[in-house]
Amino acid sequence: MKMLINGNLIDKDEKIEIKNPANNKIIDIVPLGTREDASNAIMAAFNTKKAMEEISSRKISESLYDIFEELEKNSKKFAEIITLESGKPIKDSKEEVKRSLQTIKLSAEESKRIYGETIPMDACMGGKNVLGFTIKLPLGVVGAITPFNYPMNLAIHKIAPAIASKNTVILKPSIKAPLAALKLAQIMDSYLPDGALNVVTGRGSTVGDEIVTNDMVDKISFTGSIATGTYISKKACMKKLTLELGGNDPLIVLEDANMDKAIDGVVKGSYLNAGQVCIGVKRIIVDKKVADNFVQELVTKTQKIKVGDPMDPKTDVGPLIDEDAAIKVEKVVHEAINGGAELLCGGKREGAFYTPTVLDNVDAKMGIVQNETFGPISPIVRVEGIDEALKVANDTKYGLQAGIFTNNLGNAIKAAKVLEAGGVMINKQSTYRTDNMPFGGFKMSGLGKEGVKYAVEDMTRTKLIVVNMI
Ligand code: NAP
Repeated sequence: MKMLINGNLIDKDEKIEIKNPANNKIIDIVPLGTREDASNAIMAAFNTKKAMEEISSRKISESLYDIFEELEKNSKKFAEIITLESGKPIKDSKEEVKRSLQTIKLSAEESKRIYGETIPMDACMGGKNVLGFTIKLPLGVVGAITPFNYPMNLAIHKIAPAIASKNTVILKPSIKAPLAALKLAQIMDSYLPDGALNVVTGRGSTVGDEIVTNDMVDKISFTGSIATGTYISKKACMKKLTLELGGNDPLIVLEDANMDKAIDGVVKGSYLNAGQVCIGVKRIIVDKKVADNFVQELVTKTQKIKVGDPMDPKTDVGPLIDEDAAIKVEKVVHEAINGGAELLCGGKREGAFYTPTVLDNVDAKMGIVQNETFGPISPIVRVEGIDEALKVANDTKYGLQAGIFTNNLGNAIKAAKVLEAGGVMINKQSTYRTDNMPFGGFKMSGLGKEGVKYAVEDMTRTKLIVVNMI
């Protein structure tokens, strides 16, 4: 596949091989874009700003609906691409495609309701006989940088709200999984002016850095790790920033919880996409009084998970994004075991595959609990009562989402208030997102919100107009 710059498909002599993590076979070759390619794409986006601003909201909305229909016709192909490039089980790739379509549709709807407001100027001194109102304007050029784990929906969560609010875009997808984004761009481009959407494949240190530092870019919308996000925030200078960063989400199980639902929540949250989910359940904090039964049942359910070929519709867990990622997980698990954690099941690596793993009696200060582990791991921390559970849950630099299972309303509300996270799920695991809800972390997990309406808000600027009624 090729890059898209100013409506043209661009190839390069230097290429990157995209490999299927399940078998290491090359599935496609994409151009290795350079800083200069990124700069050309930014120039194209910059030169298209005026044309985009002049398109009516009605037309923008219609184009997004047309794109929705065209993408829907290609749903099967997109799901296959996602599985081939990222190793995501095909049933989960199909879900990602459905959600991507929904995100486009939400953006088509949102493009028609970008409102300003009237200001009661006469509520202040000097406001008599003055009419004040605001209008929302596009920011201009949005630089979008995305990770590998949801290669289609995360790109759409940036591109579609940006187009809905009449911005132009340059996208840099992860070099580990850029194919869905490239195909998406080819389809979208035929419904938009040339230069409105540009995609450059290349490394973060060159293409990404150019997007972050180029003065013609007005906003950076970044999803990825805390390390990269922190680096970007230092370099982006006066650009508006949205940072959707790593998570280390807790799932708290109190003594009065519905145990079946809580265990189901762990299985869905810890192992989805082989644990490579920002809002995956990464720490399980269980009341000691119920921990023995809980852990036993969790191990039984974990052992039933089908690991294997991601193209098989019955597979629950496929490979991680590459062997290096699986080796990292292996190392963190070994460190936890050496530090006293008890391995109850899993803990085996083969190439990029890692078996779903339950670790019991994990100390809350261990690396596996303090840092984000992007793998299919359930570390159990045993605690005494809600106060200790909340203390352990908050003892981290992360604050993306959190989940608690309890039938005690008072404890549920207390947890909702005390947990330091951008979203708290009661009787549900943190691994939950609808594409219209405000989504974004507290603490080091991020800055700003996505979810179409909230992304549009962050991709517009507010102009005040004052009329002196003489
Ligand atoms: P990553 O290593 O931070 O990479 C993310 C993107 O940033 C890639 O496209 C990468 O390019 C690019 N990049 C790297 N260095 C850069 C630089 N100096 N300047 C500009 N761009 C640069 O993250 P990842 O490993 O792909 O994804 C996993 C992380 O993303 C996890 O921490 C996960 O929790 C987080 N995540 C968060 C959310 C959320 O919504 N909060 C959602 C999904 C994932 P390359 O192509 O060179 O790698």
